[in-house]
Amino acid sequence: MISTNTRALLDTPISDFIISSEKVAHVQIGNSAEHALLVLTKTGYSSVPVLDIKYRLQGLLSMKMITESILGLERIEYEKLTNIKVDDVMDRNVTFLKITDTFQKALDLVINHAFLCVVDEEGTFAGILTRRVILKQLKKYIYQVD
Ligand code: AMP
Repeated sequence: MISTNTRALLDTPISDFIISSEKVAHVQIGNSAEHALLVLTKTGYSSVPVLDIKYRLQGLLSMKMITESILGLERIEYEKLTNIKVDDVMDRNVTFLKITDTFQKALDLVINHAFLCVVDEEGTFAGILTRRVILKQLKKYIYQVD
């Protein structure tokens, strides 16, 4: 049986916890793999959202996707980086949250994802929700209850 306090936490809207879009490093459709590699290296993030010109979520791009795309038989073919586009290598099959979703849904999804992209009612990218933030909230809740 779920207590009233736990129910309240699970029903909290995720909008309270997201890192808003202007603080999120991203790349755009049409950017070169070289540019994306620079963004990933400079920010130190393992993957970042890919957005279109209207700021709609199109996919995710990771360092691994880029390195795999330039992996030759005997060496890494760095010269290919300028010709490969983000769209050629990104993952389009992205699990995402809507801004109206609750903490409960986010909790289920962050088990398998270090972070989740969040979109608003129009499908525009609103930001991300990280596993770190979810765990922080859970920790806060557990200490309060005790
Ligand atoms: P963290 O919770 O800070 O360890 O972040 C986990 C993952 O979420 C990172 O590896 C990134 O892929 C993504 N991430 C977190 N913060 C940002 C940000 N400000 N911009 C882009 N991606 C982020």
